[in-house]
Amino acid sequence: MEQLTCIVVGAGYAGINAVKEIKKTLQNERSGRTLRLILIDKNLYHTRKVLLFKPAAITQNITIPLMEFFPSGVEFVQATVTQIDSDKKRLLCQDAKGNESTLTYDILVVAVGSVVRQTTAEQGGVALTNIHAASIIHEMWRANLVRVVKERSVHERQRLMTIAVTGAGISGIETSAELAHFVREEAKQLGLDPNAVKIILFNMNKRLFTEGPTKLGDKLAHILATHGVTVVHDSKVLKEKNGIVTLLGDKTIPVGLCIWTLGLLPNPMLRSIGLPVNDDGFVLVDASYRVQGAHSLYSIGDCARIVDPASGLVDGMTCKEASAQAARLGNIVLADLTGNPAPTHKRFMDFFCFGLGPEQGLVWTHKWGLDVIFTGKLGWRLRKWTWDIASLIK
Ligand SMILES: Cc1cc2nc3c(=O)[nH]c(=O)nc-3n(C[C@H](O)[C@H](O)[C@H](O)COP(=O)(O)OP(=O)(O)OC[C@H]3O[C@@H](n4cnc5c(N)ncnc54)[C@H](O)[C@@H]3O)c2cc1C
Repeated sequence: MEQLTCIVVGAGYAGINAVKEIKKTLQNERSGRTLRLILIDKNLYHTRKVLLFKPAAITQNITIPLMEFFPSGVEFVQATVTQIDSDKKRLLCQDAKGNESTLTYDILVVAVGSVVRQTTAEQGGVALTNIHAASIIHEMWRANLVRVVKERSVHERQRLMTIAVTGAGISGIETSAELAHFVREEAKQLGLDPNAVKIILFNMNKRLFTEGPTKLGDKLAHILATHGVTVVHDSKVLKEKNGIVTLLGDKTIPVGLCIWTLGLLPNPMLRSIGLPVNDDGFVLVDASYRVQGAHSLYSIGDCARIVDPASGLVDGMTCKEASAQAARLGNIVLADLTGNPAPTHKRFMDFFCFGLGPEQGLVWTHKWGLDVIFTGKLGWRLRKWTWDIASLIK
């Protein structure tokens, strides 16, 4: 029987949801072909990237083995895809030892995501870029608290108990709220005054969450303050050196640790992989996620520039958008295979969630001209539900 090989590259939110949807929709395809579904990633696990702030605050595993998602019907290849030849429908992979191999496909989905913006060596501090960086942050603030126990200088004690979080997007907000809780808990355990712990969130804008209404930004700042996070608006951190943070305008603040949370960039390898990208490095696709100029090749998630044909608005780099694109992709692939009209992209509703420390959250959505906001434990339950559903956790 003829075989149809579908390869999905990237086991992030877009990739695992795409595999799930394609598996479901192509099982119903009646062409008589059998489906061979392959998921390729650098790692044999899915990283729950939205939870990166967790291992910065506590010891927590935020990865899930791929086998747990798809115990049967999907093959896993641990490799880095380095080249795609869309004319010959093949891709080049490199395993961890540097061995190269070629795979051919009938259908290819590129979901290689994004990287967290890095800082330069001159900027100092630690950028929350991956799990390793998160565990370094965790070790650093704990080591600082241990030093405080023996430190006599009042100024040095305060410096060691101060953490600057630079970049006040969702990641910065969630990181500072989580640290505010766990650093104080650890301080208590060590016999230190938990109220001496200072978590300062530096925000370049005049308020938090400029994507939403002013009252939401104000509410977030208020909740953060009640959890022990000081938000400093309209301030740009230039660098951290030898325990001193310097702001634009030359103001300086002594800190024990400076964490950078500066947002996302499309995966830089896309510029050399053989796909069309725009100036910012996003893969160019049509309204049904088909890569420009290629056949049976799709791209979704953080790596693709996806535009709503009705509104002209570009999708953001979020896991909720990646998951919604993946859900639509299954039907698109089936439609293209069977020669039927394919669904086109529709923008996700305005819906944002924030984790604000253990069992605390805030959810905002805008519907029928109304702002709907849930806070506290209900906000957290909704927040947790979105984290779980994006990673296929029931
Ligand atoms: C700290 C932080 C907090 C966030 N908070 C939120 C939030 O609250 N809400 C929200 O919606 N979004 C949030 N995001 C954004 C969200 O994580 C991304 O939008 C989401 O991860 C996009 O999913 P993706 O599958 O497109 O890409 P990714 O999650 O980046 O996955 C890409 C996958 O591709 C693999 N890969 C990359 N290159 C190759 C290659 N060459 N070969 C093989 N495999 C490769 C990677 O190993 C990875 O598994 C946050 C991001 C960060 C970093």
